[in-house]
Amino acid sequence: MNETISSDTVIPFETLIKYTTTYLNRKEHLDLIKKAYDFAVEKHAPQKRKSGEPYVNHVINVAITLAKLQVSPNVIVSGLLHDVVEDCDVSVQDLEDKFNLEVATIVEAVTKLGNLPKITDEEYQAENHRKIFIAMSKDIRVILVKLADRLHNMLTLQYMPEKKQRKIAEETLDVYAPIAHRLGLGEMKATLEDKCLYYLDQKKYFELVELVNLKKKERDSILNDMIKEIDSLLISNNIIVNISGRSKHLYSIYKKMVYKHKKFDEIYDLQAIRIICNDVMTCYGVLGIIHNMYRPIPGRFKDYIAMKKPNMYQSLHTTIIGNGGMIFELQIRTKEMDDIAERGFAAHWRYKEGSEKISQKAIEEQLHWFRDFVSLSDDSNDVQAQEYMHNLQRDIFEANVYALTPKGKVINLPKESSVIDFAYKIHSKVAESMTGALVNGNFVPFNTKLTTGDVVEIQTQNNAPGPSEGWLDIVKTSNARQRIKQYLKNKVESERKEFVEKGRTILLRGIKERELDEKVLNQQEALERCIKFYKVSNFEDVLYNLASKKADVDEIIDSVYNIKPVFSIPKLLKKQTTNIKTIDQGIIVEGIDSIAVELANCCNPIPGDEIIGYVSSGKAIKIHRHDCPNVKGLNSNAFINVYWDPIALKGSYYFVDMVIKSYDRMYLLSDIITSLSQGNAQVMNVNTTINDIVAEISLQIRVSDGEHLQRVVNNIKKIDGVIDVIRVNK
Ligand code: MN
Repeated sequence: MNETISSDTVIPFETLIKYTTTYLNRKEHLDLIKKAYDFAVEKHAPQKRKSGEPYVNHVINVAITLAKLQVSPNVIVSGLLHDVVEDCDVSVQDLEDKFNLEVATIVEAVTKLGNLPKITDEEYQAENHRKIFIAMSKDIRVILVKLADRLHNMLTLQYMPEKKQRKIAEETLDVYAPIAHRLGLGEMKATLEDKCLYYLDQKKYFELVELVNLKKKERDSILNDMIKEIDSLLISNNIIVNISGRSKHLYSIYKKMVYKHKKFDEIYDLQAIRIICNDVMTCYGVLGIIHNMYRPIPGRFKDYIAMKKPNMYQSLHTTIIGNGGMIFELQIRTKEMDDIAERGFAAHWRYKEGSEKISQKAIEEQLHWFRDFVSLSDDSNDVQAQEYMHNLQRDIFEANVYALTPKGKVINLPKESSVIDFAYKIHSKVAESMTGALVNGNFVPFNTKLTTGDVVEIQTQNNAPGPSEGWLDIVKTSNARQRIKQYLKNKVESERKEFVEKGRTILLRGIKERELDEKVLNQQEALERCIKFYKVSNFEDVLYNLASKKADVDEIIDSVYNIKPVFSIPKLLKKQTTNIKTIDQGIIVEGIDSIAVELANCCNPIPGDEIIGYVSSGKAIKIHRHDCPNVKGLNSNAFINVYWDPIALKGSYYFVDMVIKSYDRMYLLSDIITSLSQGNAQVMNVNTTINDIVAEISLQIRVSDGEHLQRVVNNIKKIDGVIDVIRVNK
C-alpha cells in the first residue's frame, strides 16, 4: 500500500484491473470500471499534477488503493470519479445518468468533504474535525474513498510548497490516520503516520531511521535465529505455521519515545514475530507451547481473540524473553485475523461473504456496516477504546450538530439547534446584538435549524432589537434559554424604571397645567389614596400605568388631590370619533324650552363630553363637543350654552362600537367579557380576529353614558395583555 504508481503517461487500465480481478470477475463489474476509467481519462485529459504527471494518474492510484482493500465495484468507480465534479465541470446528475445513484451519492459526499472550510491555526480542534468528518461522510464508502485520496496525496506531497505540506500532514495525523486506525486499516494508518512524521519533524524522522538501521543487522540476525527456533519447536510439536518478523513503523516508535518518555533502547517491541496459524485452536496451542518454553513478561499477554477490539482486530499478544535475554513481542493469529488487521473492515466484509461473488445483499450489508461498527457490543477490555467508541457513537448518531464559524471553528450543538443557539455559543453579546444570520452564504430566518457542516455567519449591530420572548420557543440549548430569560428580565426592569420616570414627568406636567401644588406629592396620605383607588401596591405602579397609558393623568390628579370629578373628560374619548345613537338626546339648551337639537356628525358627542350648541341656518341646534375642530371655525356669535340633562339621561343607554387590541392568550376573551359584565356593560356583539400574536376583538357594548364607558374602558385596559382600546365608527 505504501507504493504509488507514477508514470509520465496515463497508467493503463490493465494495471488497475490487475488489482480488481483478484476478487472481482463478473463482466458487468469490469465493464463498469472500464467505463469510469475511460470517463476519468477523458475528463481529466488536459490536467497535470504538480509533479507533471497526468492528473488522471491520481484518481487511478486512488482506485488501486481501493481495489487492494477489495471494496465493491461502485466504490472503485467512485474512486476513479472522485475529482470530476470538483475539477471537470461534471454534475452529480451527470454521474447518476451515466453511472448510477450510488456512485453519484458517494462522489457528491466526497466533493462536499473536500469543501470543508480550512482550519486556522488558533482554532485547530482535531477531535471535532474528526467528528465532523465522520458525521459528514455518513457512509463508510465515502470515508474509504477519502482515505485513499489522502493516502495518495500524502505519497506525492513533495511537490507541494512547504507550508502546505505541514498543514496537510497535520490534518492527516489528526483526522485521517486515527480514522484509518479505527477502521482497522493498519497498514494505511502506518503509512500515513510515517509520512506525516517525515513532513512534520524531518530531523526526528531521519534520526529514527538511523537508529533503526544502526543495529539492524545484529537485531535481524537475532530475530532470524529466534524465528527458526520457534519454527522448529512448533514443527517438533507437529504444528505447521507461517512465521515472519515485522518491525514497528517509525511513528509508533516516535510516539513511545515522545509520549511515554522511553529511550530507543527501552522499546522492546521494535520487532515483532508474527505467527499465522490455520485455525483458532492452533493459536492457543502455539501460545501454550511458547509460554512453556520461554518466560513471558507479566502483564503483557492480551487475548484479543476472545475479546475482539472495537475495530475488529483479533490476535493473541505476548512478550517473551528469548535466548540471550532479548525481548520479543509475539502476535499469534489466523490468516483471516491477519487480513482484518491489515485491511480492516474491507476484509471483514469479504470474509463474511465467503467468496468472490458480490451480491446486492453484500453491498447493502457494507452500507450498514459502519453503523454496526460503532454499535458493536464491545467486550474488549481496552477501556480507552470503549470510551472512544461510546463517545463516537453518541456524538455522531445521537444528538450532535457540528456547525462552523466562517473561520472554521467548530461549534458543537445539540440536534435541532438554531442560529440563535449558535450565536449564544459564540458569546451572549453576539446573540444579543444579532441582526441577521447567513448559513452557507444565504440569509436565513433565526429559527433555521442547523445541520452538520453548515457555515454560519452572525451579523451584529449595536442597535439590534435584541432577544424577544419568541426566541425562547426557538432555542434548544439551555444556556441560550437561560441567557434570553435573564436578558428579558433585565429589559423589563429597565423598561419599568424608564416608564416610571416618564409617568412622573407626565404627572408633574398635569399638576402644573391645573395649577395645583406639587408638594402634595410628598404627602404619603395623598399617595395612599391614589394607590388604593387603583388597587396597586405602590405609587410607582401608578406612574408606570400612567406612562403605559393604563391610567389617566387627570384621574390620578383627582385622586391624589381628592378632587371629586363631576364630568371628567376622558382623554381617550376626546381623540376618537364616536358613534353613539341616542335614544333620548337629553340636551338642555340654556334659556330655551323646546327646540330641535341634533348631535353633530363630525364629533358625535356623548353624555359626559363638554358640549356647546351652534345655532345653524338649519332647523335644529347642532350639538358639538367643546374641542371639536370644526367649532373653532364657526362664528362665535351663534354659540349657545347647552348641557346634558341628568334626569332625561336616567335609564337611557347608548351603543358603543370598539376594538380591543391585545396580545393573544388563553382566556383573553373570557376575561374581557367578565370585566364588561362586572361593569354592567351589556355585550351586544363580539368578533375576534387574530393577526400573528395580536388579537383584535371588535365588540358592541351598551353603556349608560360617557362616565360609564370610561370606567368600562379603564377596566379593560387593566386586563393582562391588552394594548389599546379604540372606539370606532360603525
Ligand atoms: Mn483527489
